[in-house]
Amino acid sequence: MKDMVKISDLNQTFYTKDGELEVLKNINFNLIEGEILTILGPSGSGKSTILNILTDLLEPTSGEVILNGKIGYMFQKDNLLEWRNIMDNITIGLEIQHKKTPESIQRVESLLKTYDLWEFRNMYPKELSGGMRQRVALIRTLSVNPDILLLDEPFSALDYQTRILVSDDVYRIIKNEGKSAILVTHDISEAISMSDKIIVLSKRPAIVKSTHNIDLVPEGEKTPFKVRKLPQFQDYFDILWKELDRYEIKQ
Ligand code: ADP
Ligand code: MG
Repeated sequence: MKDMVKISDLNQTFYTKDGELEVLKNINFNLIEGEILTILGPSGSGKSTILNILTDLLEPTSGEVILNGKIGYMFQKDNLLEWRNIMDNITIGLEIQHKKTPESIQRVESLLKTYDLWEFRNMYPKELSGGMRQRVALIRTLSVNPDILLLDEPFSALDYQTRILVSDDVYRIIKNEGKSAILVTHDISEAISMSDKIIVLSKRPAIVKSTHNIDLVPEGEKTPFKVRKLPQFQDYFDILWKELDRYEIKQ
């Protein structure tokens, strides 16, 4: 299988007025075509920094990044523009890239229809629930037809139940559309339920502590919700709980 992303010996040090901050230390991983890879690490470990390097927002201190495709970035906040309706929010990326053609509009319309947003196309973001807004944000990211999706804690602003429902939506859309994705989270259950592979980052300066292939196959169509209910889910949870660094509570 083809590598969509390959990161080799990546290092990142920030030079601030308070001195040097070593964030990433010799990070290596690859994203295989069609996979959802999750970067699991504690807050402040450098997860967003990795995505910023992948999107060229940040020049790494050293290391090599190979990308085999176009990237789409979805943030924690949906960043929808309140004064634009849903359709106009979704096509904003096309406008910015001067790619608002009859073909691309048709693509967007078909995405809206497939993912149950068609009847909401003329509404405004404030009329939609948090979960639906995140779905709109994902369709907006897909509108420019990226090959690789980067999702930076996309569910963390949602309440617990919505988060679980939207996880199923997002998973289904990524798999249906045949995209490869890197998901960033500090939530162990979210990582196990969504991923084909998990890499665990240590606390700062982050190294890759371990890599896990998640081999959980529920009956019928695979969904994150079904994966959460499999008995082996808990086994992965226990392993990852031990591996994930956290700040100990002093007695
Ligand atoms: P995470 O996404 O895992 O929570 P980040 O990648 O956002 O962590 O940040 C890792 C560390 O790097 C944090 O301590 C953060 O304050 C620091 N950091 C991130 N970006 C910059 C920057 N541009 N300049 C200086 N420090 C930064
Ligand atoms: Mg972050």
